[in-house]
Amino acid sequence: MSGKHGAPKHQNKYAWKPKAGHKINETEVGGKFRPYSEITGVCPRCKEQIDWKRRYGKYKPLAEPAKCQQCSKRAVRQAYHNLCPGCAKEQNVCAKCRCRVNRIVGRDSSEVEAEQKSLDEAIKNARERDRRTLLRAAKVRFWDKMTHQDMEETSQHASLLVVAKRPL
Ligand SMILES: [Zn+2]
Ligand SMILES: [Zn+2]
Repeated sequence: MSGKHGAPKHQNKYAWKPKAGHKINETEVGGKFRPYSEITGVCPRCKEQIDWKRRYGKYKPLAEPAKCQQCSKRAVRQAYHNLCPGCAKEQNVCAKCRCRVNRIVGRDSSEVEAEQKSLDEAIKNARERDRRTLLRAAKVRFWDKMTHQDMEETSQHASLLVVAKRPL
């Protein structure tokens, strides 16, 4: 025991920063290699709230799909959402605060899927010279949208790579 008196034991030397001093695991959700999924199906105000949580390290991604408060199906795949995309769309409300809104952030997953399909087609039809550019774009989009929940769907996207490797 030194018996020293003086400065309080737990004085803050630095302003508090979220996750300061933590070594960030870039392969975790929110890390460099697994960016957060796009926030979709909510009103701009709720998107802002969820964004805020992400920025300040308070965001807790869903470990498994949550129950929709409307249809009770386990179809809610985005953290902090109360409604599944189907119910939210049917009622034309924000999936989080359930307010009626004219503007919903982000696109519907079916739209995204359709876009993915047309991209697949484009790659199939593209000449080798153009293929790499398209594939690169596709990969970027893929990782953009990747979430821990989407990991299972990776096989769908693998078709892109198969197409690309196929000789002409
Ligand atoms: Zn529902
Ligand atoms: Zn909202």
